[in-house]
Amino acid sequence: MKRTKGDNSREKEQENNTFSNVRMLLWVAVLWLILFSLFGNSKNPQRLEISYTEFKNSVKKGNITEITVEGQEVTGKFKEPVEGEPQSSFFGEKRTPQFSQFETAIPSFQDPKLMPLLEEKEVIVNAKEDGNSLLWSIAIGVIPWILIVGFFFYTSRKLRERMGGGAGGPFGFGKSKAKLYSKLTSKITFRDVAGLDNAKKELQEIVDFLKNPSKFSRLGGELPRGILLVGPPGVGKTLMARAVAGEANVPFYSISGSEFIEMFVGVGASRVRDMFNNAKKDSPSIIFIDELDSIGRVRGTGVGGGHDEREQTLNQILAEMDGFASHENVIVLAATNRPDVLDQALIRPGRFDRRITLELPQKKARKEILGVHTRGVPLGDNVNLDNIAVRSVGFSGADLKNLVNEAALLAARNEKKKVEAEEFEQARDKIIMGIEREDVIKEEEKRAVAYHEAGHAIVAQFYPGADPLEKVSIIPRGRALGATEQLPAEDRHNFSRSYLLGKVAVMLGGRAAEKIVFNDVTTGAGDDLKNATKLVRRMVCQWGMSEKVGPVAFRQGEQHPFLGREITEQRDFSEETARIIDEEVRKNIEKMENEAARILIEKRKKLDALVDGLLEHETLGRMEIEEILKRSESLLTAKAGG
Ligand code: ADP
Ligand code: MG
Ligand code: ZN
Repeated sequence: MKRTKGDNSREKEQENNTFSNVRMLLWVAVLWLILFSLFGNSKNPQRLEISYTEFKNSVKKGNITEITVEGQEVTGKFKEPVEGEPQSSFFGEKRTPQFSQFETAIPSFQDPKLMPLLEEKEVIVNAKEDGNSLLWSIAIGVIPWILIVGFFFYTSRKLRERMGGGAGGPFGFGKSKAKLYSKLTSKITFRDVAGLDNAKKELQEIVDFLKNPSKFSRLGGELPRGILLVGPPGVGKTLMARAVAGEANVPFYSISGSEFIEMFVGVGASRVRDMFNNAKKDSPSIIFIDELDSIGRVRGTGVGGGHDEREQTLNQILAEMDGFASHENVIVLAATNRPDVLDQALIRPGRFDRRITLELPQKKARKEILGVHTRGVPLGDNVNLDNIAVRSVGFSGADLKNLVNEAALLAARNEKKKVEAEEFEQARDKIIMGIEREDVIKEEEKRAVAYHEAGHAIVAQFYPGADPLEKVSIIPRGRALGATEQLPAEDRHNFSRSYLLGKVAVMLGGRAAEKIVFNDVTTGAGDDLKNATKLVRRMVCQWGMSEKVGPVAFRQGEQHPFLGREITEQRDFSEETARIIDEEVRKNIEKMENEAARILIEKRKKLDALVDGLLEHETLGRMEIEEILKRSESLLTAKAGG
């Protein structure tokens, strides 16, 4: 059941040809205009331009032998050459040009005394029809219109091409012929998707169905039509949808929800209809709606303009999904990272009723993903994918792909034949902490930053249960002046209250160190405070982790400001509760800052040692940190002993 779709590309080519024709025409027109403005109006350099009065005076003096009248323009010959304005020549000397010809213009009101004067002085008068300039005036009148129409033609084509190409005249914006979606035959298979084993298992059933629909329908079974792929950005939702099409070897119609946003009114619904019709004709086939949340958001709460359009498009999708006949073997896949904002009508049975969750990859999957993306990359002997996988907790598939790419770019820049461990390390730092800035930082400031980061590090090291340290750095990156990185020992799904409080303590460790050492705080701790407050607030309001507030979850309109839902949701607690929450948040933060300060005071010698190390090396890895801490310990005991 394979259909070849070669003619699609030929159509495209043709379109491109007409395109370049239009462009050529435009260029010719523009060139014409430029030439015209350069030469059409240009003065003949051998003629002296004089005023009408000067002209008449010359006639009176008898210095003019012959004139030619063309429209209002008069050219003619002097009897005696006339001097023009002196001009500096190229070499600096002054020269006065001599003119034997002139040009001038007659005023549009007729001068009745001119003709008798000319006759009296016996000037030969030639009159010419000004047909030439008539032609020009027509051209001048018409060219701008040609240009405007041409431009319109051009842009409308361009627009339609952007929207997926297709036939139709220059004014056929809304015609349902025009396509927004694209049709592909996917070469990607499950082999290209690493990890995600659960999702693959669930989708295998769909693949089997698409490969052999009759096997299923014979038994009267009905497969779900609509499947929703849910997961954070970059986990491979789009990739997975393509892989399903590739595995089943069926046509794949894909459309992205966000593209609807830039669409003209009334077109979205017809595009959807068109796409479903074509997919049905091609059945078995797959329709893939990416970023479903941008059209499928809860209706009636749209903020800003254009949600009517969205609603119509959404309604059309719903109607099409309801209208499938049982012999039409079309599977509709959709992807979203915001299943919570989807309209209930979309996820009711019969529509997108099966939900497949794609999770961020665990260590094993991360290694496999790295394997997929390093297939064509020459790796150095010291590269250990296992190692990289361990140290990339929280990376999505897209992040890992990016990591490999960045490393390869770095290796190319260093003119290496293979990508080595250093490049992966640098690429990882860049992704996690941002790009290094080459700022010159004053010694004084550097010391403050070193204490701030060492403060985070020491608290992370000695707060029970905190994630182990991975790296401390005082190289400025992105907006930050330094960074402290911890590495969760394993991928966690569930966090305890004490673990989260430890996190808060580590966040506040930088500020606490500044306070202890300099008896002052800097703006550098602003972000830490913000993050700590956010975390504690969630602990209190969402996870019931405060005794005083109790095991209640409160809604907070803190999410995306453009997602209609949150905006309509009011705060669902009283002023009194709000006050208690604020108090609890503050109390918890204060408590954890004190806790951080206590640790730092107790480990002050280690803090100082770490700062010295940082000032010397700028970046310290886990091993180096451990060594410094151990050494300062032995020094202490040596002192105490001696
Ligand atoms: P999403 O649609 O979930 O935001 P994508 O499918 O667009 O993410 O993933 C972006 C890129 O990341 C993919 O093109 C692919 O190269 C890579 N990627 C993501 N997940 C995986 C995976 N499990 N295996 C291999 N590559 C992956
Ligand atoms: Mg995607
Ligand atoms: Zn900090």
